[in-house]
Order: sequence, then C-alpha cells, then structure tokens
Amino acid sequence: MSSFLERHPSWSVCSGIQASKVYLYRAWGKVRNLEQNIEHLSSIINEIRNDFIPAEGPQITEESATKLLSFLDRYYDFSSNTLSGNHMFVLLPGCGHRVFDAFCRPYTNADHFSFCDIFMPRAVKDIKTPPECILLHELGHVLNVRLTGDIEVPSASFQKFNELILSPEDCQAVMQEPTEMYAHVFAMAVLTALGRTKPCYPQTRKSKSL
Ligand SMILES: [Zn+2]
Repeated sequence: MSSFLERHPSWSVCSGIQASKVYLYRAWGKVRNLEQNIEHLSSIINEIRNDFIPAEGPQITEESATKLLSFLDRYYDFSSNTLSGNHMFVLLPGCGHRVFDAFCRPYTNADHFSFCDIFMPRAVKDIKTPPECILLHELGHVLNVRLTGDIEVPSASFQKFNELILSPEDCQAVMQEPTEMYAHVFAMAVLTALGRTKPCYPQTRKSKSL
C-alpha cells in the first residue's frame, strides 16, 4: 500500500492485478470482529462472482487517467478541495462489470468525512463514449459526495441553480436524477476548459454505493 501512496498524496490509479488487490483491501479493511469478518468476506466473494465478468471493451489507461487528475489538480486544486487528505483510488480492473461501466464507492472516515473510490472496469455497455468522459462523470459524483455526503443527494445550490435557469418542467425532469445531471454538468465544464467544443454525454447508468 505504501508504494501506491508514494505516487501522489491524494490519489492513485491502479490497473490489472494491483486494482484487484486494492479492491479487496478497501472492501475488507474496516471489519474486525471474526464473525463479521467471515460474513463480510463471503459477501465480497459473492459480489466478485456475481458482478464481474470477462470483457474486452475499451478502458481508460493509467496514463490518461493520471493526466486528467493532474489537470484537475493544476487548474482547480481538485484533490485539496474534494478529498481533504483522504486517498482516492481509481481502479481499472482487467474485466467488465455486469451492471456498470463505471461507478463510485463512497466511504466515510472516522471524522465522518465522505470520499470515494472510482471503479472503471472494461466497458461492456457503452463502448462509444470516450473513457476519459466517463472518468470525468465519476469525478463529478466524487465532488457531489464531498458537498452532500451522499451520492444520491444533490447540493441545495445545484437545485437552486436549476430552478433559476430551467423552466419548471425541465427542472422537474432534471431533478428526477439530479446527481446524474450534476455529474454530467461537471464533466461538460471540464471538457470545455480542456478545449473540447463538443461535450460528450456519458451513457453510464446511475452510480451507486454498493
Ligand atoms: Zn453517474
């Protein structure tokens, strides 16, 4: 673990077998009681058996993900503003996921601070959206978790923003999946800053806390 943390103080991008090891470490780390430990390990095994499948679809590279995160740190101080000392892993396992092409897993530390890891397996459903756009979308979820502590709950300011710029009908439609829209808007804003003239719309399904 220390070798990962030496790379960057706030985040690490891991692929292949390293990603699998960190996945187990993060999922398993907080259980101490023996019975709970056995139960928890069983649930992790079941999750791996049920949810992860062989796949050959596109996947972001470690280099590209690192480049994006470095850009966000340089221009927005993203790590300091969003992670506040907690370490985020971006995991790129060499397989696919039965339900999600990408998802966030939120954690709460001892100080009740919420942060996330991002999982980006090989794409199974949406093989057209550039994986960099999908990573930006997930980082939008990470920022949302920082603001509200809950991946499903939007910030009050985002709700107010939509009320100000949208018709009541459009606002109602957006607020049916507000955190998905928040993540889209975040990705579009960063793509604009990067000079992309045509923002893309990741078609990943709703992220969730597992
Ligand atoms: Zn999403």
